[in-house]
Amino acid sequence: MLLDVLQRYWGYDGFRPLQEAAMRSALDGRDSVVILPTGGGKSLCYQAPAMCLDGLAVVVSPLISLMKDQVDALRTNGIPAAFVNSTQTPAQRSQVADDIRAERIKLLYVSPEKLVQDRMIEFLKGLKVSMFAIDEAHCVSEWGHDFRPEYRQLNILRANFPEVGLHAYTATATERVRHDIARSLDLKQPEILVGSFDRPNLIYKVERRKNGLGQVREVLDRHKGESGIIYCTTRNDVDTLTLELNGQGFQTRPYHAGMSDVDRHDNQEAFIEERCDIIVATVAFGMGIDKSNVRFVIHYGMPKALENYQQESGRSGRDGLEAECCLFYSGREMVRWRNMIEESPPGPAREAAFHSFEAMSSFATGASCRHRELVNYFGQDLPAEQHASCGACDVCLGQLDLVEDALVVAQKILSSVFRQEQRFGSDYTTMVLKGSKEQRVLQNGHERLSTYGLLADVPQKTIRDWIEQLVGQKFLRKEGEYNVLKITDDGRKLLKGEATPKLLKPAATTKEKRKAAVIEDSWEGVDRGLFDVLRELRRAKAEALSVPAYIVFGDTSLRDMARRRPTTIAGFHSVKGVGEKKLADFGQEFIACITIYCQQHGVATDTLAPDARAKTTTVYVEPEETGPNLSARAAFRLFREGKSVEEVANFMSRATSTVSGYLSEFIRHDGITDASPWVSAELIPRIEAATRKHGFEKLRPIFDELNGEVSYEHLRPAIDCLRVRMHFGEE
Ligand code: ADP
Ligand code: ZN
Repeated sequence: MLLDVLQRYWGYDGFRPLQEAAMRSALDGRDSVVILPTGGGKSLCYQAPAMCLDGLAVVVSPLISLMKDQVDALRTNGIPAAFVNSTQTPAQRSQVADDIRAERIKLLYVSPEKLVQDRMIEFLKGLKVSMFAIDEAHCVSEWGHDFRPEYRQLNILRANFPEVGLHAYTATATERVRHDIARSLDLKQPEILVGSFDRPNLIYKVERRKNGLGQVREVLDRHKGESGIIYCTTRNDVDTLTLELNGQGFQTRPYHAGMSDVDRHDNQEAFIEERCDIIVATVAFGMGIDKSNVRFVIHYGMPKALENYQQESGRSGRDGLEAECCLFYSGREMVRWRNMIEESPPGPAREAAFHSFEAMSSFATGASCRHRELVNYFGQDLPAEQHASCGACDVCLGQLDLVEDALVVAQKILSSVFRQEQRFGSDYTTMVLKGSKEQRVLQNGHERLSTYGLLADVPQKTIRDWIEQLVGQKFLRKEGEYNVLKITDDGRKLLKGEATPKLLKPAATTKEKRKAAVIEDSWEGVDRGLFDVLRELRRAKAEALSVPAYIVFGDTSLRDMARRRPTTIAGFHSVKGVGEKKLADFGQEFIACITIYCQQHGVATDTLAPDARAKTTTVYVEPEETGPNLSARAAFRLFREGKSVEEVANFMSRATSTVSGYLSEFIRHDGITDASPWVSAELIPRIEAATRKHGFEKLRPIFDELNGEVSYEHLRPAIDCLRVRMHFGEE
């Protein structure tokens, strides 16, 4: 049942991890708390059950901007959905109410403040409510990072609807927040489902920022024509970077809190509607952006907390296709964050901020698997088989060279710090290790230290990087206004050889980019030219329908189209993410586009046989058939538009007998069962009766049986359609 619904409306073949369990608890009416990472597919966890259950599912969603998108997306899939919020006129709201009473709606999106109003509760009590889905449920908790007081009042749901299942969904919830959600909503023995926080399709890369612009450009060059976000830490950086990139021919738009509402809104819309590929933004950008095909997120500066990094980088690759997350950090910025936190009033909040900041710095400067660092921070681990390599981060992909004798090098650095009596910062320490003749060093008599010049042959910059890495890995710590280096407990262990650091030397040359192991190569077999053409068509469709582009089709679907290049309805139905509604609404146009492109570029079509799903529903394909040629397919399109044999023959300048052959092929190919577009309706039963009598072997006996009154051109389609019906067991 669930699977049928998934295929029929969404065109999906299966469940993502935990989705099925989450859907089951919805079907069973058991309360639940579902925690899945961004892109994990939370919406489907309530949308699919809503289609299976009797009555109306009510979805609580805090972001008004997202409600319309979600409802649009559902409608594009043929699902009757609506929303109620403060942006609507009373007339619009009463229209929705009418539709609901007439049972024309399966899913209703409501803002929390609207839902808790007495009138709303009374209205819903008069209906059959199938379930309540509470999205972004962490907003309920004061411990979460997004507390919304309106969410607190949702506890009235349990009291008013004791029989209806309550389901909470969120991407971010610590243990404490999880319990807070269950308690605040008064859930009854909820099923708690916690998914993996790992996002295996994201490829993490971290570099120290050198020539920032050049590093950014390198990433952009890898993602020509794709959507991406560049996060900066300051408005000033946003403005400068936008100017610089636009000066170099990129089309980027800025976004930060210093801009007017109108400009900000414009730029955000342009990004969502794919009129511009790249947004350069501060953290103000992102809330409520559900765009699924963000292919890269660049951090042009380090965020102040690892939670922020996870959330911001997590806005890429929601569609499950690979996406790149690049972090360019600088030591200066780390100092700045640290100082900022130090200046805040002491207390638990400051402690928490420090904790998150240190996790962030050690992520940036560290040299262990980035995926693992992230999930460990959130209290999980990667599956054992990924411990050796996640296959999707710079460390595991071997894009960074590790220093082989890291322990010895680190001991040299720490000894120097120790001999300098832990009274100096990293620049000074670097000078000593480098053997500098600077006045300051000589004045302190530090040229006499045993560590003086110990790393003379290493570039100064590298020594400084190593010091940062040792700070990141907590062997050293920076203290006070001057960031004096101090040796930590771990550092003392390191000096005794009881702990081993990892030190990076930046890759000498860009290594051959190895393919990420866990990521299926999602570009395999995709014709990029066709992909771009389809993207253009998607944009146009989206514009015509006034919905975001990804609602028409996600990138996954477009790539699958450009890989399969289907020219038949059956083939198109096999494309990922094509359910029945989208097939009906967009099929013809996309198929035409694919056919024309492939014809013009001499690209093979129908590279993969339609899958079982398509075959079992409508289509019959001869097993031995090798696939129709291009002219045949061009004819198919015309037949689908309802053209007669004569019209097609004229149009294509072909003989009617040839076109009549195409029609036969078409009927079998598309599994057509009704010949009336090509044969007059009263003749069909007579032809069929004659066929039953004489069999399909030869046309001649049938022709004769009908006393030669019916031409072969008219016999054929009627017989072919009968054959299709018999093949399906309909006769
Ligand atoms: P979340 O709300 O958890 O961030 P979404 O519900 O927006 O995630 O889903 C993320 C993306 O994954 C969407 O593009 C969605 O269509 C897709 N998706 C969800 N479930 C499946 C599935 N079972 N098969 C294929 N794609 C899916
Ligand atoms: Zn890794």
